[in-house]
Amino acid sequence: MTHSSLKLPIYFDNHATTPMDPRVLEAMLPYFTEKFGNYASVGHVFGRELQKPVAEARASIAKLIRCRPEEIIFTSGATESNNLAIKGVADACCASGRHILTCRTEHKCVLNTCKHLEEAGFAVTYLDVDQHGRVTTEAVKTALRRGKDGVDRTMLVSLMLANNEIGTLHPIADIAKVCQEAGVLLHVDAAQGVGKIPVNVNELGAHFVSFTAHKMYGPKGIGALYVRKSDPCVKLNCQMQGGGQEGGYRSGTLPVPLVVAFGKACAIAAEELGEEVLRLKAMRERLVKGLQERLEVEFILNGHPQERLPGNVNISFPTIDPELLGVSLKDIAVSSGSACSSSRPVASHVLKALGRPDDVALASIRFGIGRFNTMEEIEYAIEHIVAVTNRLGKRTGGQSIHSPVLRSAGPASEF
Ligand SMILES: *Cc1c(COP(=O)(O)O)cnc(C)c1O
Repeated sequence: MTHSSLKLPIYFDNHATTPMDPRVLEAMLPYFTEKFGNYASVGHVFGRELQKPVAEARASIAKLIRCRPEEIIFTSGATESNNLAIKGVADACCASGRHILTCRTEHKCVLNTCKHLEEAGFAVTYLDVDQHGRVTTEAVKTALRRGKDGVDRTMLVSLMLANNEIGTLHPIADIAKVCQEAGVLLHVDAAQGVGKIPVNVNELGAHFVSFTAHKMYGPKGIGALYVRKSDPCVKLNCQMQGGGQEGGYRSGTLPVPLVVAFGKACAIAAEELGEEVLRLKAMRERLVKGLQERLEVEFILNGHPQERLPGNVNISFPTIDPELLGVSLKDIAVSSGSACSSSRPVASHVLKALGRPDDVALASIRFGIGRFNTMEEIEYAIEHIVAVTNRLGKRTGGQSIHSPVLRSAGPASEF
């Protein structure tokens, strides 16, 4: 088979970031050079002409997640939104509760924010996950502290909607009911959810929801925190002092080109999400089926078989040398099960939470299939992975370094 039209390497790392949609770029360009004013400087036309485009962008973002426009706080991305939500609640509520509930598989920006608060005297519980990477509603219920105040009282539950490594979805709507009954605030990191699957903040039941433009075909450097302002229990202290922009929740000059772009990315998602989910799902199913039919080495599919993101595939190859795997898959841009925080690769904390040993976690690859991938690219990826793993499997003598090994973490047809 020839793939003359394919450009190599093929980008399959859409959980790390997405390319910007050309329609988004077109929408934002005039706001750099022609309509460059300061949104807050309404004394003249340069600021005044920005009021409507910003209002429209805010409205299209709000519409995508079904909230009111004034409940959207612009930030620089999901890292900042997560910091603002967790530290902002900790600041505002520390007189009553000083306990936070989160999970081992959260993004580092949530885990490290929680660690920072632990050093400041807060108590944090990091919940375990099941074999598919899901936290159970029962575990949340059991771990909630219902005391009167201090570390005996949970003030915040922070859990992600969709995991960025394995695609598993937490049962957030059920957990929200438990939080509601206990009078505990719920923050949801939905950086991998908004724009990728339908998200309705009312059905989700969260008080705070973080998301970011560059994971949904918008630009890097802008995100949002949804704050359920209609709920009198919601308390949040700002973490950025300054001119009082964004209703005082987040000071700083509004980056209007990015705001307009974020609005356009959300408008496109609202319009095309239903169709896109089906297209990505078909590509994921083809990839998994192709690998299941043709791989000759052992492998494990990580993540939940059904409760998952449509574009995510995460595979471990327990018998293959991680270093060789990394350098050999040169035609496809995927991410590995490691974080290169120092000179030595560190095994993914998410895969370790699933019970994978370090060497298996390191020999893993993550696909994030996105809007601009094609079925032809999927076919190429199957052939490339089969060829590489066959070669490496032989080179390492076909020895299993971890046995017994599952061929799949769930029913094959469900992936
Ligand atoms: C990407 C990501 C973040 C960080 O978002 P930025 O906008 O890059 O700061 C946080 N949480 C999850 C789950 C992510 O995937």
